Amino acid sequence: MGLAAGVVVVGGGVIGASVAYHLAARGADDVLVLDRARGPGAGSTGRATGGFRVQFSTAVNVRLSLLARAQLERFAAEVGGDCGYRPAGYLWIAETDAQLASLRAALAVQRGAGVEDAVEVDARTIATLNPALQIAGIAGGTYCPSDGFIRPLQILDGYRLAAQRRGVRFDWEAEVVGFRRASGGEIVAVQTPHGEIATGAVVNAAGAWAGGVAQLAGVDLPVTPLRRQVAVTVPTAVLPVAMPMTLYAGDGFHLRERDGRVLLLLPASGAADPFDDAVDPAWIDAVVALARRRVPALAAVPIDRAACWAGLYEMSPDGNAILGALPAVPNLFHAAGASGHGVMHAPALGRLLAEILLDGAASSLADVSALRPDRFDAARAPAQIDRL
Ligand SMILES: Cc1cc2nc3c(=O)[nH]c(=O)nc-3n(C[C@H](O)[C@H](O)[C@H](O)COP(=O)(O)OP(=O)(O)OC[C@H]3O[C@@H](n4cnc5c(N)ncnc54)[C@H](O)[C@@H]3O)c2cc1C
Repeated sequence: MGLAAGVVVVGGGVIGASVAYHLAARGADDVLVLDRARGPGAGSTGRATGGFRVQFSTAVNVRLSLLARAQLERFAAEVGGDCGYRPAGYLWIAETDAQLASLRAALAVQRGAGVEDAVEVDARTIATLNPALQIAGIAGGTYCPSDGFIRPLQILDGYRLAAQRRGVRFDWEAEVVGFRRASGGEIVAVQTPHGEIATGAVVNAAGAWAGGVAQLAGVDLPVTPLRRQVAVTVPTAVLPVAMPMTLYAGDGFHLRERDGRVLLLLPASGAADPFDDAVDPAWIDAVVALARRRVPALAAVPIDRAACWAGLYEMSPDGNAILGALPAVPNLFHAAGASGHGVMHAPALGRLLAEILLDGAASSLADVSALRPDRFDAARAPAQIDRL
């Protein structure tokens, strides 16, 4: 007799585990998670720095964060385990009037989407929120005290263990290498090097590799990898544990304290190989020079080069997640493209995807149209007036 599963989830990162948990919690039986890695956390989830924020500039991301935050607040009771949510705040810094204007515009979106505690702050308030910063040159910013930190691997483990308690199976070292499809386009079996698994539905939660998994089913899913590097100081107490995540709106430089070290991040152009996740030593020099200018207390704190790491964001063209199926393969449901917000949004995305798969529509969020997988085709298609 061949192998079979009701639903196969491809990818056992935080999003795949959340999807599996939410499917099982809704009563779906026979859920199987396949991951090519040797164990949990080998993908981007294990590389995330653990930021959580509602301070986005698009309503859909704000609403995803609010939904996820409510789930994280109930995590221990509902899922089990400690998600590590710690509201240390997110402090956005503007160095020009134009940057401040865009932070203000984002604040208006956040307020419109239901955020109550995010506020605009002036340079004097910023100096009290983060006394370590070089205040000269700061034009203002925004601050949300309930933003803060989460523990990515603890969230992954919480969902994985809770899913397993509800009967979900996780198979590691099980790479999905193809799909067998029926004449209508739907998938009837998942192919791995160990054999075929007959199934009624597949969830693509393969993170930065989701585009390749979709391609195996003949689907063009615009998810591309983007390298993100993290510079790590030696253990130090020069910055307080309670320091908010501090981000510069102009160039995206940000820093936080984690487990007695300081983590420094600065967006950079990608590597020649888009899946390359090596750390560029020249990038470390650049981010350290910037950090020392903006945070003088770091001037004498060495970088622990061996502890620096990099990983991959899973970018979609508009920076929003892609949730649901495309008509060509109606039983291949994508939960991908969260574009670097995948850990913080995993609770919400898992719940919404389970609703889409089981009920045919997501009900936990008022409007998920900004997450529809076919939105890129619609955006690329000329408007009716241009076709005349
Ligand atoms: C440096 C860095 C910092 C970040 N910081 C944050 C942050 O502060 N907050 C936040 O919310 N997010 C952050 N992110 C983003 C976050 O890590 C991702 O959005 C999130 O982990 C995506 O989860 P995932 O489950 O989709 O992907 P992954 O964790 O990558 O899981 C995908 C899994 O799919 C498996 N897979 C791939 N192809 C196949 C196949 N063919 N067959 C079987 N299995 C397959 C992989 O082995 C992997 O385990 C950060 C990312 C990086 C790199």
